[in-house]
Amino acid sequence: MSHITNPSYITGIMKERGFSTKKRFGQNFLIDQNIVERIIQSAGLQRGEWALEIGPGLGALTVHLGEQADHVVAIEIDSNLVDILEETLASEKITIWAGDALEENWEELLGSCGWQGQPLKFVANLPYYLTTPLIMKALESELPFTSLVVMVQKEVATRMLASAGSKDFGILSLVVQYYSTSSLVMNVPRTVFIPAPAVDSAVVELVPRAPEVDAPRTELFAVIRAGFGQRRKTVRNALKPLAKEWGISLEGLDQAFLQAEINPAHRAERLSLEDFSRLTKELLKGV
Ligand code: SAM
Repeated sequence: MSHITNPSYITGIMKERGFSTKKRFGQNFLIDQNIVERIIQSAGLQRGEWALEIGPGLGALTVHLGEQADHVVAIEIDSNLVDILEETLASEKITIWAGDALEENWEELLGSCGWQGQPLKFVANLPYYLTTPLIMKALESELPFTSLVVMVQKEVATRMLASAGSKDFGILSLVVQYYSTSSLVMNVPRTVFIPAPAVDSAVVELVPRAPEVDAPRTELFAVIRAGFGQRRKTVRNALKPLAKEWGISLEGLDQAFLQAEINPAHRAERLSLEDFSRLTKELLKGV
């Protein structure tokens, strides 16, 4: 048990420090200890592992990560919270880093805390305004994350876990599928935060693995981005500008669809990761 999720602790410390939550930083603090414990359990930290947390807030997750990980590095943008955490969570196993998680170089930062390549877990109740870029940054990083357990808005979780053909399927779903195996841990109602956000949340677990498709990554994501860039167009029309940029004629574009056995009249959300991979490889033959 921890007192950090106790609403009277939160309101008390805020009053004592003259701190009020900042909407612009997506500050919604967890007040449900069961949910905290489920998140920590899902992370399943093993001996020898490190944890990277984004946005520790008042430390609801951090305190438990500090108990289980060899070391936890938690990046917090709000200097008021950093001051509080440095007093309330003082421990040799916890480093509170003041900074913007999107801007920081995580590898350098971890290295400066003594990290030497040990397996890592990424655990966070993410600020909602930065969810997608932070998840992309974590997945695209070369860091040896053994899992990522993230709390996000429910709608974002739905997009992360969507399959081809669903209206929620898009670039985020494809990035998640490219880099990891994903699953829903639980849905979380808005009532378990102070202040309560306007939407419900969900916890998602991502387990990174080698990609299951073999198109070259940069070109694959260029095709995916172009395909979804003009979502309401057919995928053929959406890909015309990229084909031109790559020096591929319209006949070449049509040939690539034919060879990849993909209907050019479909919209991008109908194409699976495997379809995008085949299409990318066919397009590259014409470059
Ligand atoms: N982990 C705490 C909890 O579960 O109660 C707080 C989670 S709150 C949803 C998000 C946290 O991310 C806040 O503490 C906020 O100040 C912090 N934050 C927002 N933007 C950030 C950024 N760019 N870099 C690091 N932390 C950020």
